[in-house]
Amino acid sequence: MSNIVAIVGRPNVGKSTLFNRLLERREAIVDSTAGVTRDRHYGKSDWNGVDFTVIDTGGYDVGTDDVFEVEIRKQVQLAVDEATSIIFMVSVDDGLTDTDQEIFELLRKSNKPLYLVVNKVDSSKEELPATEFYQLGIEKYFTLSSATGSGTGELLDQVVKDF
Ligand code: GDP
Ligand code: MG
Repeated sequence: MSNIVAIVGRPNVGKSTLFNRLLERREAIVDSTAGVTRDRHYGKSDWNGVDFTVIDTGGYDVGTDDVFEVEIRKQVQLAVDEATSIIFMVSVDDGLTDTDQEIFELLRKSNKPLYLVVNKVDSSKEELPATEFYQLGIEKYFTLSSATGSGTGELLDQVVKDF
């Protein structure tokens, strides 16, 4: 049974940037899984010699949050069904939004390992505003800059450890 990590979150939080970063040494496998809709991208990655599949759930990102609302349950359900681990990405630039809370409520019902990742923490200046996400009631979150790659190692160390 292979390990499958889904990246879930609102449009523009940085899901595809992280996805592409995780795949930078690998060839992306796009829509290779039979019966899977085109709005999901799959790729192979590894961390410290542990192989896993990554799903970028963001094909719906072309629209606004309103468009996303229509897709949200479907995408979240697919992620929960397919994934063995879930990265829930939010953005420190936007802060905690109603849509974030809605997604989080859906995700926390699964029994799969769930990682809250606060993206766009490009420097230590953003560490303090990131604490806003404790309002979700979680004990721990990871801060990340998908743009620079900072924080990726700590996140993946934990994700791979929980496989
Ligand atoms: P997605 O819609 O969630 O897949 O988000 P994208 O990966 O397409 O990124 C949305 C925008 O945020 C793009 O303009 C990215 O360059 C930018 N972005 C992604 N990650 C970061 C980050 O860590 N820091 C900053 N400052 N911008 C980022
Ligand atoms: Mg995207």
